[in-house]
Amino acid sequence: MSQPFIEVHGLTKYFPVGRRRVLKAVDGIQFTIQKGETLGLVGESGCGKTTAGRTVIRLYEPTSGRVLIGGTDITRLKRSGLKAFRRKMQMIFQDPYASLNPRMTVLDIIGEALDIHGLVKSRTERKYRVEQLLELVGLSAEHASRYPHEFSGGQRQRIGITRALAVEPEFIVCDEPISALDVSIQAQIVNLLIDLQKKMGLTYLFVAHDLAMVKYVSDRIAVMYLGKIVELARSEDLYDDPQHPYTQALLSAIPIPDPEAEAKKERIILRGELPNPMNPPSGCPFRTRCPHAKERCAQEAPAFREVRPGHWAACHLHA
Ligand code: SF4
Repeated sequence: MSQPFIEVHGLTKYFPVGRRRVLKAVDGIQFTIQKGETLGLVGESGCGKTTAGRTVIRLYEPTSGRVLIGGTDITRLKRSGLKAFRRKMQMIFQDPYASLNPRMTVLDIIGEALDIHGLVKSRTERKYRVEQLLELVGLSAEHASRYPHEFSGGQRQRIGITRALAVEPEFIVCDEPISALDVSIQAQIVNLLIDLQKKMGLTYLFVAHDLAMVKYVSDRIAVMYLGKIVELARSEDLYDDPQHPYTQALLSAIPIPDPEAEAKKERIILRGELPNPMNPPSGCPFRTRCPHAKERCAQEAPAFREVRPGHWAACHLHA
């Protein structure tokens, strides 16, 4: 396999809470993404996946660890170097309503991104480029003069995607890009993202909690729990043969369209709630909800091991 385009090594993001305590939102994650690949990052709300996505592209400063993009360690870049590098890595936000300035026209929202990076030389070129981009995402040139409130949720997300694409990025963190949209619109936006990836050779980190949709878009999937990645595998392998009890429980909750298969399926009910990340359990972070927990699980954190080629899991059952 060629050198990965994205390499994340031991990345942590801790937030101080009060004078003495820290919230370990991201706690030593590692993964790679090949050029043109999509890695899905899934987990329950509060597991740290959104913080992880933001820390990977330094929207949040990492507490420790390294992130290499195309061989450049972006955690070492000074402010000026980072500004130049920002063009290569963009983010599509969960809430298209909140991420667009309501007082700006679409022309100015997208044009601003072009201006910041000096990508156009005149107002005419700016307008032409914005119109071209709008057509690329399924909107039209006449939409350029309108304001965000004049659009539907799906159209606003298309504008958010256009703004990210305007600077010709290579890597995009898609942070739950469809979860605020109507179900009927979600597939359209996901298909647009897949289409754009093929046309432009984009690399995605796709953050989401909807496992069914993540399977559809991702080549490989990483599952997060309490700030750590507990399983990572090719999508088919993760769905067909999940190795971590947490992944097994998440997958067992997805309804199967075939009523007979659905009736026969064994559903694994997770005990309790996600523990408070300020006070995580000792040993394995999943042990308070795991149906297989043993004494060792409370004493020793399981290592993240390759249980078969390309399939990694952090569980003593695979020691
Ligand atoms: Fe369950 Fe123990 Fe494996 Fe953790 S290490 S997932 S508690 S069996």
